[in-house]
Amino acid sequence: MPSLNDIRSTFLNYFERNGHRVVDSSPLVPRNDPTLMFTNSGMVQFKNCFTGLEKRDYVRATTAQKCVRAGGKHNDLDNVGYTARHHTFFEMLGNFSFGDYFKNEAIPFAWELITKDFGIDAKRLLTTVYHTDDEAFEIWKKVGVPEDRIIRIATSDNFWQMGPTGPCGPCTEIFYDHGDHIWGGPPGSADEDGDRFIEIWNVVFMQNEQFEDGSMRALDMQSIDTGMGLERIGALLQGKHDNYDTDLMRSLIEASAHATSADPDGPGKVHHRVIADHLRSTSFLIADGVMPSNDGRGYVLRRIMRRAMRHAHMLGAKDPVMYKLVSALVRQMGAAYPELTRAQALIEETLKLEETRFKQTLDRGLKLLDDELSRLPEGENLPGEAAFKLYDTYGFPLDLTQDALREKGRAVDTYGFNAAMDEQKAKARASWAGSGEAINQTIWFEIEERVGPTEFLGYETETAEGQIQ
Ligand code: ATP
Ligand code: MG
Ligand code: MG
Ligand code: MG
Repeated sequence: MPSLNDIRSTFLNYFERNGHRVVDSSPLVPRNDPTLMFTNSGMVQFKNCFTGLEKRDYVRATTAQKCVRAGGKHNDLDNVGYTARHHTFFEMLGNFSFGDYFKNEAIPFAWELITKDFGIDAKRLLTTVYHTDDEAFEIWKKVGVPEDRIIRIATSDNFWQMGPTGPCGPCTEIFYDHGDHIWGGPPGSADEDGDRFIEIWNVVFMQNEQFEDGSMRALDMQSIDTGMGLERIGALLQGKHDNYDTDLMRSLIEASAHATSADPDGPGKVHHRVIADHLRSTSFLIADGVMPSNDGRGYVLRRIMRRAMRHAHMLGAKDPVMYKLVSALVRQMGAAYPELTRAQALIEETLKLEETRFKQTLDRGLKLLDDELSRLPEGENLPGEAAFKLYDTYGFPLDLTQDALREKGRAVDTYGFNAAMDEQKAKARASWAGSGEAINQTIWFEIEERVGPTEFLGYETETAEGQIQ
């Protein structure tokens, strides 16, 4: 059975054999791109190659790209733990053509690799095309996909965009049918969000550029950008349905089970899944220079860290846990990503410190949350005031509270939360008035952009969030 590490190599070797340059993953913090919080796909480092702004000494490339989807246009944070196929951190395998080959080659490449080299049963596969893309439809027919397995889709699912601006285009996607014992319908159906038909590969025909004012132009060159989730193809090739049952994710889940003495497949199963996922996103973000803070990228990191800590708490962990799992991750992924090995000590230290500090308020906050819930009538949402108090006094990011309530089938009155937040901001503004300094999130984010996320500002800068020490 191939490991995820083997599958990554098979993919890169296949495209190298077919004339592609193997290029390293770019960092999770995109260079010079304020439109994007984190690298969310393989094309990010090649953005300017598609628009023609940048020329390289190759026109075909292949990568295994580190991706984080925990904010912005592609946000999977709330899916983690609940679907079989989503992570906040994952590896996207891709092949790229910059004005070189187009649809006629890209589709047969993808088909050959998955049905021949990977040996996946073609009868289980179906594909989608953008509804007006007759050309892609015909190419799929030519490689041997029966017409009733090529679905035309009119929604944005088949028009790929990295974010609000940038190169984009119609796409064709390949899905695998895991069988009718699993809930979910084929793409385009009402229950497509189930996990029966899992999207494994997206092939984008890069031919447009989207601008901020909403306009779009046709690019001079026709290019290819593809993305296949390593964990998804890995699950398939390891005979599993669920990404979290692959060798790599399983070893992290077992490390979590070991550190918390909680059964990996028992009632705490979801907690282990979230911990395994968040361990990867937090560790890779720190390795790429992001540090927990109260704004911008650092705040997204802090939110993910705190969510993970709550899940560890739910498993009964009394002491910090996350930092103990880093060595298991380095064992699995350190060879493919040496920056992870280099940053191991920093990751462990950062996790331990953050967890030690959050632990006290976490315990108290969760107790307050339980008290509030016990007073609430059945089915009623948590008042915004309470969620705000958890945020302001106990350092609970709103999404952490929402995540905690989800397990109990409850939600937050976000309207009330925002009102309480606005009120506090107004008070803060009033007390700043006269000092001549206008401080708000946007400005902080801009400063951080300019200073660069790699600069370590020290832990003392993090005291703005209520009474967190
Ligand atoms: P889905 O519809 O399942 O959420 P997507 O259409 O958002 O996937 P793309 O933006 O097309 O995904 O990304 C290309 C590929 O990356 C997908 O086909 C999938 O294999 C993989 N992928 C996307 N999001 C995730 C994720 N959160 N975790 C793991 N793999 C992912
Ligand atoms: Mg998605
Ligand atoms: Mg999709
Ligand atoms: Mg897709």
